[in-house]
Amino acid sequence: MGSSDPVVHPVRFVHPEPAAVGRSGSVSRFDHTQYVSSTMEFRCNLKCVHCMIEDTMDRLAPQTFEHFKTLLAHNATHRQWKGLILTGSEITLHRDLPEWARMARRSGFEHVRIQTHGMRLAQASFCDELIDAGVDEFFVSVAAADASTHDAITQVSGSFDKTLRGLELLDGYDHVTTITNTVVTTRNYTQLNDLVGRLKPLKRLAQMEFWFYFPMSETDEKDLIASHLDVLPFLKEAVAAVRGLGRGVEVKNFPECLLGADRDALYNDQPTLFIDPAFWTEFMRNGFHQCVYRQRCGATQCLGLNSAYMEKFGDHAEILKPFPQAQTRQ
Ligand code: SF4
Repeated sequence: MGSSDPVVHPVRFVHPEPAAVGRSGSVSRFDHTQYVSSTMEFRCNLKCVHCMIEDTMDRLAPQTFEHFKTLLAHNATHRQWKGLILTGSEITLHRDLPEWARMARRSGFEHVRIQTHGMRLAQASFCDELIDAGVDEFFVSVAAADASTHDAITQVSGSFDKTLRGLELLDGYDHVTTITNTVVTTRNYTQLNDLVGRLKPLKRLAQMEFWFYFPMSETDEKDLIASHLDVLPFLKEAVAAVRGLGRGVEVKNFPECLLGADRDALYNDQPTLFIDPAFWTEFMRNGFHQCVYRQRCGATQCLGLNSAYMEKFGDHAEILKPFPQAQTRQ
């Protein structure tokens, strides 16, 4: 796309067909190489304690409408991606969202996904409007399994009930896919399996994702990073439960070697992302790939440890087990 070439996530980031399998060897339902994300909004009406961009939200610029039109024209010509993800801090706050979805569908995108905290989806009329406009995939953040924990994390009373109501309303539509994402922190890791159970009745829920928190900083000033060792039994229990329901599952930013037989759930790829380049300056402060075994480990998905994690918990050299170089996943 010339001077508007996508800013590709330096770590590796990717999207789902409910019945499809993503990257070879993973249990994700989505092939992230088939998706492109455009960051169109930097306002939010929650104050999640784990927010990656709370300090930069006021400075980051959304993609321009001109860039958005160029992206659509590019894909109409080249058919590079099947799905468009409209994202930002909270994309549902932008009044043009339905029109963007209509434009994307007219330009040939097979899927339009929104990434959202889901509160506005508690209004049935808003769900109708988005789905009529062509949004068919909803990536919804759920912070915990119960209202008190979720609302304490989002710092907005009533947010859990609205988000859950939204997921329940979406469940009533045909041809809609939902995905949930939970950022795993010290505040919620013991609830992961409870969350799987809480969302069990949802028929449209194709996949659940668990993203291990990183602070966009060299230190964990808010004490949100949990020890991998403490999280591991809860995470494996949740992954098994999601699998048992026949759903896709993705784990991000967790040491691959600690996952054992669940290493196929680790999927750190992301879709191509268009975002203000200033975001990456902050992102690089995380300092991923610091595992002491990185150079000789055959893992292909693992991000190792990051600066803040190591500062808090050390390098886990006695616990991490590098894979032989030849023992790689596709
Ligand atoms: S040894 Fe290090 S790089 Fe290899 S899987 Fe474990 S954490 Fe990841």
